[in-house]
Amino acid sequence: MPGSPFAWIDEQARARRRAGLVRTLRPRPADSALLDLAGNDYLGLARHPEVTAAAADAARTWGGGATGSRLVSGSTELHADLERELAAFCNFESALVFSSGYAANLAAVTALAPHGSLVVSDAGNHASLIDGCRLARGTTQVVAHADPEAVRKALQTHTGPAIAVSDTVFSVDGDAAPLAELAAACRASGAALLVDDAHGLGVLGDGGRGAARAAGLAGAPDVVATVTLSKSLGSQGGAVLGPAHVVDHLVNAARTFIFDTGLAPAAAGAALAALRLLRREPERAARARAVATALYERLTAAGLEAVRPDAAVVSVRAPSPEGALRWAADCRAAGLAVGCFRPPSVPDGVSRLRLTARADLTEAQIGRAVDVVTATR
Ligand code: PMP
Repeated sequence: MPGSPFAWIDEQARARRRAGLVRTLRPRPADSALLDLAGNDYLGLARHPEVTAAAADAARTWGGGATGSRLVSGSTELHADLERELAAFCNFESALVFSSGYAANLAAVTALAPHGSLVVSDAGNHASLIDGCRLARGTTQVVAHADPEAVRKALQTHTGPAIAVSDTVFSVDGDAAPLAELAAACRASGAALLVDDAHGLGVLGDGGRGAARAAGLAGAPDVVATVTLSKSLGSQGGAVLGPAHVVDHLVNAARTFIFDTGLAPAAAGAALAALRLLRREPERAARARAVATALYERLTAAGLEAVRPDAAVVSVRAPSPEGALRWAADCRAAGLAVGCFRPPSVPDGVSRLRLTARADLTEAQIGRAVDVVTATR
């Protein structure tokens, strides 16, 4: 009798258990008393009454789902309004909304890296950009983290279409990419620059208008940005922003646009309401950054090793994967939810706790978070 066709899965599970790297799902209670520094709700908008009301209104008006691909039945006025307002807010000519930031990144990389092209990708890039590179017809060259010189060298000898790809703010350590230098490296050889501003939108730049705008790159003919609607905008979904002819190309060529059901109307409505709130209350962006700095300064003053935050992500070094897990569990037991990053999510093998600064945290909550993290170390 042949054995189970899934015996290899059980073997992998055993190895994962031995290494202390098993992941499990834990439903988040709706009315939790936990102080949540684990999510990505940087501006505290996910539960804002205007945002949740917009989601409910959109579902009532347009239905629980988009009903089809954006190219068939899945485009509503909400999608069009969101695309127009998002592009204007971030200073890009055009925007295209996707069902997730993940899908937006897959779309941008694959559609902009045809056969014979070169993609130069930062070693610290998010998994969705990496997967875009894997799916793209072009060749990918991975370069050292935040190293514009390496990008320049990689691009130098290539003929044909080329694009450099980088997160604006890296999701594990919260450090920012050298965008101006990256753009200069690209321009030296006529390459395009694609930046993933998932952690920059709503946090960086004047009133949260994003890292590309802050670096003076938004609206440039050779720059494309992706964003997610699921972090600072408290909703779900993603978008690609860029020159109109590039966005039109995505409509026609990006498989995660063409073959995916459109973003749910409730998510589009919520993101649009959040974007309008942010326009009205631009101080939320600076507050998220100030909260991150306060967390970092107090944690390091207490002797913890953390990375100085460039946006709203505060990364604290943990002694080991097991240590990180135990630390996060102890925080939770003390009423604080924090993120726990372990291999393989962290390619350098260093486990971290990840704290999300939120614009709506009070001084007392910041103090409590620091107390819990330091007391449980
Ligand atoms: N890019 C980065 C840098 C991210 O951190 C994330 C979210 N983890 C994504 C893209 C994917 O966005 P979404 O969650 O909307 O799919």
